[in-house]
Amino acid sequence: MSTGDGVSSNGHEPSVHDVVVVGAGFAGMYALYTLRGLGFDAVVVERADDVGGTWYWNRYPGARCDVESMQYSYSFDPELEQEWEWSERYSGQPEILRYANHVADRYDLRRDIHFETTVQRVDWDEDACRWVLQTDRGTYRARFVVMATGCLSTTNVPRFDGAETFAGPTFHTGNWPHEGVDFSGLSVGVIGTGSSAVQAIPVIAAECRELTVFQRTPNYTVPARNQPLDPDEQAHWKQNYRELRAEMFAQRAAMVQRLPDIEDAAKDLGEQEFNERMEERWEVGGFTFYRAFGDVVLDAESNERVAQFVRDKIGEVVDDPEMAAKLTPHNTIACKRPCLDTNYYETFNQPHVHLVDVSATPIERISPAGVVVDGTEYPVDAIVYATGFDAMTGTLLRMNITGRGGVRLADHWDAGPRTYLGLGVAGFPNMFTVSGPGSPSVLSNMIPSIEQHVDWIARCLVDLRERSTTTIEAEPDAEAYWVDHVNAVADLTLYPTCNSWYLGANIPGKTRVFMPLPGFPPYVEICEDVASDNYRGFALA
Ligand code: NAP
Repeated sequence: MSTGDGVSSNGHEPSVHDVVVVGAGFAGMYALYTLRGLGFDAVVVERADDVGGTWYWNRYPGARCDVESMQYSYSFDPELEQEWEWSERYSGQPEILRYANHVADRYDLRRDIHFETTVQRVDWDEDACRWVLQTDRGTYRARFVVMATGCLSTTNVPRFDGAETFAGPTFHTGNWPHEGVDFSGLSVGVIGTGSSAVQAIPVIAAECRELTVFQRTPNYTVPARNQPLDPDEQAHWKQNYRELRAEMFAQRAAMVQRLPDIEDAAKDLGEQEFNERMEERWEVGGFTFYRAFGDVVLDAESNERVAQFVRDKIGEVVDDPEMAAKLTPHNTIACKRPCLDTNYYETFNQPHVHLVDVSATPIERISPAGVVVDGTEYPVDAIVYATGFDAMTGTLLRMNITGRGGVRLADHWDAGPRTYLGLGVAGFPNMFTVSGPGSPSVLSNMIPSIEQHVDWIARCLVDLRERSTTTIEAEPDAEAYWVDHVNAVADLTLYPTCNSWYLGANIPGKTRVFMPLPGFPPYVEICEDVASDNYRGFALA
């Protein structure tokens, strides 16, 4: 607690800055680089002992980015673009973390990052017009805070009865031991079949003695077709980065695909033409599969046709019809975050890989020796929780943020997150969220989205400085309009039709609201327009 005289409870003087950035992942690092370059006194606080955010924590076997390497990288410095060499079509976690470290070194970022510093509460000091951040390492005061806390940074560990009695080690994919885990000779249980599990399962299966996967909802996944990156392809990107980046930013998810996006309706195509188009994209691999038609996430009939194509593939790949049936999803395709894989369905052909369907009969409890479902104990030596995250809002709400009049962010967001542009929150002046709820964030290539947000925030802070403006705050009407807008856009799609983390449906008790905003280019245009129109919808004081 601050004692009110500007001295923190641990007796040390508070650390005073123009801007405190929370988080040293790709967003926090770029925020620091940019704000420092503009002459702001900015500091980053980070709970980990090094940079990397998502890529620092998610070190599970097989962890890899689904966005292709040449596009999952910063665009702000052409020299950085030229000097970094990517080795695979999709980068693995170790390579992305090396890139993050390279960026931190190259721009000397670490001198302004306070590691192993966890934010415990954040309060707006109305009289001083400053934020006060209490951390486990002391107090920070700043005119502005930038929440670069990531969308998937608070792990979700479901509460299973008896979990604490389990005799072996347990791991969460999003908080993996840095020294790695040796599964050889062990019987391993994996709970979950989302993106993390889809990547981890084939790699763990190759190492362990027995693998038992506990699946609540079968998942659609499309081959990634990862491979060493063709040097000619890398050279082509490097020679044409400016044009290719512009092309990326014009796409709705801020990434270009290997095959052209096609905008016709899947339901209208003849059988042969449909199958040819799908087969080609299945072979090419990656998200281009979902861009074969314009209406995969818009039209239920078209969606079902694409879904059936994947179901048929599962039937072809998986030898045992009973296993194939258990692995086959029946919900809308791509309304949960689509997965890309390397040998996921194939893994279930191996005799030491077992699948336990926990959709109808949930995991009953964890025993000292294994996982109990419907009265049967499945013995395992180690458990991997691939059970996801309290996405988009979890980390922000855990920081105990209070704004004007002592209003808690948790109360303001009681009925779901409310933001204006995913950048500001009414009643929380001078607080910016990077890739926050209400912005394209997780429906887009994250690094371009991050750069766009940080650039907008930086421009805003410069404008405020030039005009000697002290505070900027989303107006309640603008926020209400934006919440309606995000819902209206989501309602045009099939996204709200399944129980995804996009809706908060994976966390018991979390309000069901569609959190990200589909469509990067129109969103960028609105942000530009708002800034150019004297920050329309924000109150400046
Ligand atoms: P996730 O998609 O939320 O998957 C969690 C899994 O755990 C689901 O299969 C879920 O089942 C299951 N689960 C949760 N609670 C359970 C319970 N009580 N009993 C049984 N099963 C339970 O989490 P994730 O796989 O970590 O992925 C999260 C996001 O991170 C992804 O969607 C993606 O955006 C990102 N990510 C990206 C990459 C990449 O770029 N390659 C890789 C990994 C993750 P239900 O489906 O029934 O809820």
